[in-house]
Amino acid sequence: MNPAVVDEKVVDRVYITLKKEAESGGYFLNPDVDFTKNLVRGLLKNEQRYGYRACPCRLASGKNEEDLDIVCPCNYRDPDLNDFGACYCALYVNEAVAGGKEHAAPVPERRPPRSERGKKKAVKTVSAGPFPSLPFPVWRCTVCGYLCAREQPPEICPVCKVRKERFERFI
Ligand code: SF4
Repeated sequence: MNPAVVDEKVVDRVYITLKKEAESGGYFLNPDVDFTKNLVRGLLKNEQRYGYRACPCRLASGKNEEDLDIVCPCNYRDPDLNDFGACYCALYVNEAVAGGKEHAAPVPERRPPRSERGKKKAVKTVSAGPFPSLPFPVWRCTVCGYLCAREQPPEICPVCKVRKERFERFI
C-alpha cells in the first residue's frame, strides 16, 4: 500500500471518534469539517510513518520518546486553548470558537527548542497539608492536568483520553 494514501473511510471514522472523545471530555474540534478532516489525514499519515500520531503541524523526530510531548493531543493544547482559543494546529478550539462566537487568534509555537526539552521546569510544589503521608502516589496527566491517587496511572486519561505514558508522578 502507498504509505502516503489514507483511506477516507478511516479518516471519517477517526474524525467521529476524536469528536466524541473531545466532547465527552469538555473539548471541541474545529467546526470546519473539511479543515479538521485534513488534520486527521495528517495525523493518520504520521501514524503510518512513525507509528504514533505526531502533531500534523510540527516536524517529528520519528522517535516516540522524543516526540511524546507532540503526540496528539499534545502537552501544549490546553494552555493554547486558554490563551488563544485554539491549539497550534487549530484541530481543537474552545467553546466560543466552536460556536462561531469568536475567532481563534494565531497561535505561536509553545514547544521549547530541542535544547530545552526534557529539562524539568521548576514546579511550585504544594504541601501535602494534613496528609503528610499519602496512602497512594498522585499521578498527573501532562496533557489536561487530571490528577488521581492510585498505585499506577490509569491506562487512559478519563478526561482527555491520552495513554498512561503521558502521566507523571505529582506527589
Ligand atoms: S492538539 Fe493540536 S497542536 Fe497539539 S498535536 Fe494535536 S493537532 Fe497538533
